This record gives sequence, structure tokens and C-alpha cells, in this order.
Amino acid sequence: MSGVSVPTPNVRPRRGARIVDATLRPSAENVAAFWTKVVKSPTCWYWVGAISAPDGYGRFNYQRANRQRTVLAHRFSVELVHGVLEDGIVCEHKCNEPLCVRVGHEHLVQSTYSENVRYAIALGRLSGHTLLDGQGRSRYERSIAVRASLKDGYDEAALLRAKTDPGDAQATLF
Ligand SMILES: [Zn+2]
Repeated sequence: MSGVSVPTPNVRPRRGARIVDATLRPSAENVAAFWTKVVKSPTCWYWVGAISAPDGYGRFNYQRANRQRTVLAHRFSVELVHGVLEDGIVCEHKCNEPLCVRVGHEHLVQSTYSENVRYAIALGRLSGHTLLDGQGRSRYERSIAVRASLKDGYDEAALLRAKTDPGDAQATLF
């Protein structure tokens, strides 16, 4: 840390004592931190920060003063464009890429939940309680693989492999 003196250390809030605030607006630093966790391809913009299980979506936590908020990464991105969304509004991936944070009609659009579920069922993405990709992996496993392929930046071949790799479970069958 810097040499800034703290005259009354005993009144500093404990770590982890931040108040969860679902209406917390991000600071410029929060927004900058968000974009450091995004890798842009010519099409989708991929979140490479924390990933939620089991849904495989990106997750972003930010803090201001003693408040914090954890939000879906793609929802945060939509809010940067459209402002904080009302309850009941969800953000739908037209590109079918759960990690995508690019706002636009070919990528992320606002939707109502019922529309979103209808769309997912139409695409066969919902199977019981498990969200599967076309390779039989859970969507979480797929998102982890996609993120790993982007750890050194955008690499078209590595990204394609991550998207189409059936994963260890099926690899052992051969
Ligand atoms: Zn996209």
C-alpha cells in the first residue's frame, strides 16, 4: 500500500463487511475493471472473468466504498448501454454464446423471461435441469473451456477447439 496514514484504524470496516446493494451504480473504475475481463473476437465479445456454476454465465462483482454488487456479466454490459434493468427483464443471447457481453441485436438483447425460455427450448438448450451444449457437455464446462482458450487473447483456432471439444468424459470413450 502507499504511505497514506490511517488515523483511526479501529473504525475501518472489516473485510467482507460490505453491504450488498442490488442498485449500486458502477464507478468509472468499476467499468474499466469490467472491460479488462473481456476478450473481443470479430463477432462475440467474451467474458473471461468469473463464471457461475451451473449456468455457465459470466459473473462480475464490483465495489464502491462499503457497498458491493454481483451481477451477470452480460447483464452488466447491457446496463452500461441501457441503464439499470427492471426486475423481470432478462438479457438474451441471440448468438447463443453465454459468455458474450456484446450488446446488439445479433448478440445481447433485452427480453422477458418467458420469451427467453421459449427461445431456449426452441433451440434445444434446456434438457431437464442441465443446460447442455451440442457436444453433451454442461454449459458450465463449455464456458470454462472457452475462457481457457482465450487466456492469452483471441485465438480463432483455440476458440473453435474449445467450442467443439466434447470434453474428457467423451474423449475417454475412444
Ligand atoms: Zn455474441
